[in-house]
Amino acid sequence: MADLKKYQMLIDGGWVDADDGQTFESINPSTGKAWATAPVAGASDTERAVQAAHRAFTEGSWSRTTATERGKILRKLGDLLAGKSEELGRLETIDTGKIFKETRWQAAYIADFFHYYAGCADKIHGDTMPIDKPDLFVFTKREPLGVVAAVVPWNSQLFLTAVKLGPALAAGNTVVLKTSEHAPVAILEFGKLIEEAGFPPGVVNIVSGFGDPCGKVLTSHPLVTRVSFTGGPETARHIIRNSAENFADVSLELGGKSPFMVFEDADVESAANGSIAGIFGASGQSCVAGSRLYLQESIADEFLSRMLDTAKNIVIGDPLAEATQMGPLATLGQMEHIERQVALAKQEGAKILHGGRKPPHLNAGWYYEPTIIECPSQQNTIVDTELFGPVLSVQRFKTEEEVIRLANDSKYGLAAGVFSRDIGRAHRVANAVRAGIVWVNTYRVVSPIAEFGGFKNSGQGRESGFQAIYDYTRPKTVWVNTSSKPMANPFVMR
Ligand code: NAD
Repeated sequence: MADLKKYQMLIDGGWVDADDGQTFESINPSTGKAWATAPVAGASDTERAVQAAHRAFTEGSWSRTTATERGKILRKLGDLLAGKSEELGRLETIDTGKIFKETRWQAAYIADFFHYYAGCADKIHGDTMPIDKPDLFVFTKREPLGVVAAVVPWNSQLFLTAVKLGPALAAGNTVVLKTSEHAPVAILEFGKLIEEAGFPPGVVNIVSGFGDPCGKVLTSHPLVTRVSFTGGPETARHIIRNSAENFADVSLELGGKSPFMVFEDADVESAANGSIAGIFGASGQSCVAGSRLYLQESIADEFLSRMLDTAKNIVIGDPLAEATQMGPLATLGQMEHIERQVALAKQEGAKILHGGRKPPHLNAGWYYEPTIIECPSQQNTIVDTELFGPVLSVQRFKTEEEVIRLANDSKYGLAAGVFSRDIGRAHRVANAVRAGIVWVNTYRVVSPIAEFGGFKNSGQGRESGFQAIYDYTRPKTVWVNTSSKPMANPFVMR
């Protein structure tokens, strides 16, 4: 325990332990060993964080800060983040196993999300209404909601923090951010930049707790007005139930089983690169992983042989090493889930074309080989079960109508990929597929400017883009009587 790095939580502008002093160990997935500790936020710690956020919203200097000033502080936060991207990326890699090449790039890019929302802060305005009555001037203003509960999972945690904090703070809300119990470190370290950027105490609070009691107390708290949740569908059901206590607005960014469709007229090399990036990037631990590959029959063999050549040569190992292309899975539970699902796929008649096991040369840590599985039927369990790992199911199709039907035959609807040189077909498929994001001849790209979110069991509400600003504000309608005469007799309608 002595040489573990010790982290604290940020509550009301101070760095604190849990009230009862409890901590949990964060595990480095590349070794399977503990490397850091963080406080277990209990009910009283969570309560203090919400109260601090409420005070900052209602009484503190934040409630009087102008939109321009909020924009300046957010811009500074983005600049500080860009300057610290190496360090934060390294911590995220050690804590989650996501390769360093990606985490440091992502941490630097996340700065753009804060810069984007810094620019939005002073562009939030209401409307005037040409009202259907004389002597009345009616306008709306958009006001912040109050205390936002932001709950994130262990993957892409800095990115998910940015898409929640950026619009919430630009709009003038205050936030209690809950880290994942599997990987709290990068966000707790990021909290130091919140102070440095100049946010007043209590505007951003960070608690490192478990789902119960921390997440439960937070998302059902009567002072919380919005819950922005990213995680799995089962937890999302708890969040909805919790919101029955406070009637908070709820946005849910959940899982996916995204179809990746390759037509015979596609640029095969580009599509194969897209598919590899879509499923083996971040070891497949990405909500938008293109985990269902649909290949048009005439190109299926050629395409698969290309995919197999690439998959066999993926360098898997230490996520901090520059040469590594795929790191470990983030948790032991993830690895066991994947092992169970792959075993079930075999029982159901699927054929493992590559992988399907732990790499023999990596004994320690939670590594899993890049895996490609040909499925004889859409009914195979693996085809509609989110594995959240480097496992690709492959099926063949004959026609456009057939692949649209297969793509939509899923309880999820987060993302989809279409590879075709036929622009008309690309548009037809993009229109027909029921998913919140469709990438045509590209995959797994995001931007602060473009909305992000899912259909069906993949969630509700959107993040990123200017839409998020609307979601973190609500209109207030103000009616002003401009007449010089007194109000008329209330018993006469006009
Ligand atoms: P999870 O649902 O287990 O946990 C997410 C967060 O919810 C954690 O912070 C956890 O402590 C908290 N939580 C758990 N129980 C709670 C409760 N009762 N009340 C309040 N909070 C509670 O998810 P995970 O395993 O950490 O993450 C993986 C999942 O996240 C996958 O399904 C993945 O697809 C999804 N995800 C979605 C997106 C997206 O944008 N759509 C992005 C990343 C991850």
